[in-house]
Parts: sequence; structure tokens; C-alpha cells
Amino acid sequence: MLTVFGSTAIDTIRTPKKVLKNVLGGAATFAAISASNFVRTGLIAVVGKDFPKEYQKILSDHLDLKGFNIRKGKTFRYDGKFDNTLSTRETLKTELNVLADFEPTVPEEYKKSQFVYLANNDPDQNIKVIKEFDKIKFSMCDTINFWITTKRESVIKMIKAVDAVVINDEEAKLLTKEFNLIKCSKKMMEWGAKYVIIKKGEHGSLMFFDDVIFPSAGFSLEDVVDPTGAGDSFAGAMIGYLASKKSTTLSEIKRAVVYGNVLGSFAVEKYGLDGLIGLKKSDISKRVKLYEKMIRF
Ligand code: AMP
Repeated sequence: MLTVFGSTAIDTIRTPKKVLKNVLGGAATFAAISASNFVRTGLIAVVGKDFPKEYQKILSDHLDLKGFNIRKGKTFRYDGKFDNTLSTRETLKTELNVLADFEPTVPEEYKKSQFVYLANNDPDQNIKVIKEFDKIKFSMCDTINFWITTKRESVIKMIKAVDAVVINDEEAKLLTKEFNLIKCSKKMMEWGAKYVIIKKGEHGSLMFFDDVIFPSAGFSLEDVVDPTGAGDSFAGAMIGYLASKKSTTLSEIKRAVVYGNVLGSFAVEKYGLDGLIGLKKSDISKRVKLYEKMIRF
């Protein structure tokens, strides 16, 4: 089984063509729903009493919710605006609300999860949670500029506590204070990560392990409407695929990156979570085949 911990949110997302107000979001939400295409996935998260019942239904339709908490107060809220190119997003508001003083605990049944993903979240909470698992085979984390600028030292400690870091290029530069992505990955490896995956939006990703650099293309699309959660969907697919194979060999990790690119591409084609919800296994395998055809020479 796979356990995902991180933010579940109510988002306002401003895209050039459409503004989505108070939609279901959160890094852990995207990652866990993406992962659930591959393996049974448990979500540990906290929301407030304002969290709509229909959003909880979406979560329970896809995920195991033993670790899902509803607390007095307001749900974490995020407000972000994309520019016309859809490649840059400005954060207008981050309201932690119930997430601010959440004391996460891992349900007994999840403690034996061999695969754990710490989605974007307070790094101190992520560190606390990872310590509660007994049998981890592979763990991975992500972060965002909000945490890098407010809790950089804790982000570095979190990186020490996991096997792999998946992070976007701008955040990798901000965190490591380097400009070259190879230098960024080396620094994160010095901090303790065995694998570093740097996401480059529509341009795909670079995966680093030892002296191996594995570049992978994004799945090219003509119509992108909302990139929110693409990175989380990428990471969720990666770790979900690995958990389904119960394997972390380098060749499976490379394959997992391909699944990451493919699920990321589904996420950006529709607004909010719509690109991930209702996705069929055959949709995924069809696109993976196309992806393979695209890169074969
Ligand atoms: P992504 O587009 O992959 O960066 O992920 C976007 C999701 O991350 C949104 O649904 C937000 O709710 C969530 N998010 C934004 N800022 C934060 C933060 N500081 N901590 C945790 N989650 C966040």
C-alpha cells in the first residue's frame, strides 16, 4: 500500500480563460488521486468543517481515508494566478488555517506502508510523519517556494529523511542557491537524497541517481488549460507505479518517471482535478504507448 501525506485544499485558480473559485485542490489530493490509478492509496490530511461533503465524496471514491481528519476551523486555502503562457504562476494567497497547528498521526494500518509520499506541506509535519512508518522501502517528498522561504532548514532536514526528492526547477534553484540543475541535484544529494527528480513543466524532467542523468520529455499537448497539480500528479504517478511493482530498480524508476509525465499531461488538459477523475487504465496505457512511440528512434 502507498500512503500520501500533505495538503488537501480549497483552491482559487485564475487561468487566462477561466477562474475556478473554491475548487477541490491540494498537493496531496492531486498526488493521491493520481497514484490511485496504480495502487490502493491512503491519504493523511486535515480539512476544516467548511470542507464540502461532495469533495469528501470525490476523495472517498478514490482513496482510503482512515487518516483523513476534519477539525474545527477553516480548510487550507490557496489562491494562484497563471500568466497568459500558463507557465508562470503567482501565489496571491496561502492561508494555512487548520493545517497550521495540525499534529499528524499515522493510522496503525498505514504504518507498514512500504511506499510513502510526503506531498507539499509543512516540512516539520512531514518529518514527524515519516518517523512513524516501520517498513519504508521508498519515500519521496516535494516542496514549494512558500516552505523554502519560510522554513528552509526544515526543508533540508526533510530531504535527509527521504530517498527521493521531486521538485520543480525554479524551486530547486531557490532551495539550493545554485543555477545549474546538475549542481542543484548534487547539493540535494549531499543533503541525503539518493534520487533527485527535477520537473521542468511542459519540458519534462531530469532524474539524477549517482552519476546517472535520465532526461525525459513531457508528453506534448496542443491544448493546456490549467497546470495546477501537474507536479503533484507526476509525483503521485511515479510513486504509485513503483508501489504497484513493489520495485525500486533504476529501470523501474525510469519507467515511473514516464508514468509521471503521462499523468501530468492528463492533469493539465482539464480544469482542477477533472483531468484525473474518471481516467481509465486504458487511457493511461494508450498514452504511455504513444509516449514510447514518440521517443523511440
Ligand atoms: P502544483 O501545481 O503541483 O504546484 O500544486 C498545486 C497545489 O498545491 C494546489 O492545489 C494547492 O492547494 C497546493 N499548495 C499550494 N501552496 C501550498 C503550500 N504552501 N503547502 C502545501 N500545498 C500547497
